[in-house]
Amino acid sequence: MTDRYAVIGNPIAHSKSPLIHAEFALQTRQDISYTAVLATRESFVSTVLEFARQGGKGMNVTIPFKEQAWKHLATDILPRAASARAVNTLKFEDAKIIGDNTDGVGLLRDIEINLGFPVADRRVLLMGAGGAARGVLPELLRRHPASLNIVNRNVDKARELQEGSTLSGILSASDYRGLSGRQFDLLINSTSSSMKDELPPLPKGIFAKGALAYDLMYGKGLTPFLRFAQEHGAAKLADGYGMLVEQAAESFLVWRGVRPETRPVIAMLRADE
Ligand code: NDP
Repeated sequence: MTDRYAVIGNPIAHSKSPLIHAEFALQTRQDISYTAVLATRESFVSTVLEFARQGGKGMNVTIPFKEQAWKHLATDILPRAASARAVNTLKFEDAKIIGDNTDGVGLLRDIEINLGFPVADRRVLLMGAGGAARGVLPELLRRHPASLNIVNRNVDKARELQEGSTLSGILSASDYRGLSGRQFDLLINSTSSSMKDELPPLPKGIFAKGALAYDLMYGKGLTPFLRFAQEHGAAKLADGYGMLVEQAAESFLVWRGVRPETRPVIAMLRADE
């Protein structure tokens, strides 16, 4: 019998997850279906429970429900989701709803394996303090960067993230003015600025020699952040397609016990742009 999976979010119509998981299923010869489900804040929990009740095996959770899934839905929270305080992967097992988070692993696999850029001993700038930043911060810290600065317009949110972490020695928080005169080796844009075609107010000299500029956003062409990085000395640019596919592959591994090949799927998405 075909095992059923889905991604739930709002909006969800343009999600690439059904396409990605269909490719993974073909590649690994797994008999699954994967659909996209729209929910509202009010209907989110009941929609997931109904999907599970009808025999669904698992779900991905995307914007804006990751925090709700962590707080109100999962009965068993795995350590990766607990430290991120957000769930993007649900696995239904008997009466249990297991909550996991594959965003951090997805980003780090893309940066370190696909792009060949080890994070250890680098000066890292994490831009943004929303759901995505929360998801990737623990995994970034686990790689032992030399330092990690969280920058956010609303600096209180950046400080909250900093205070929630135990590795306070290497972690700092600031607003954008606080970046003046500083340089970073790895700059990760986890703000939603690119969705609005906006550029966070970064100072020009911020890219160290050999720096990688990574935007979680994916889509057509360079984002304002990647354009700025190209013009101001970043050595390498990357968009969020790699992370999107890697976090999906990690979810697939959680559900099916097999890790699909990601490179052909990343290439397929880029070719489809
Ligand atoms: P949230 O709404 O939770 O957070 C948004 C963040 O962006 C806040 O920190 C906000 O700052 C900041 N921000 C918004 N506009 C600007 C701006 N013009 N300049 C500076 N900062 C700004 O969103 P998420 O964290 O959930 O998602 C962020 C992005 O990451 C989205 O584009 C999403 O698509 C992408 N993403 C990609 C993934 C992938 O697999 N590639 C996975 C997950 C997310 P403030 O608090 O000051 O308002």
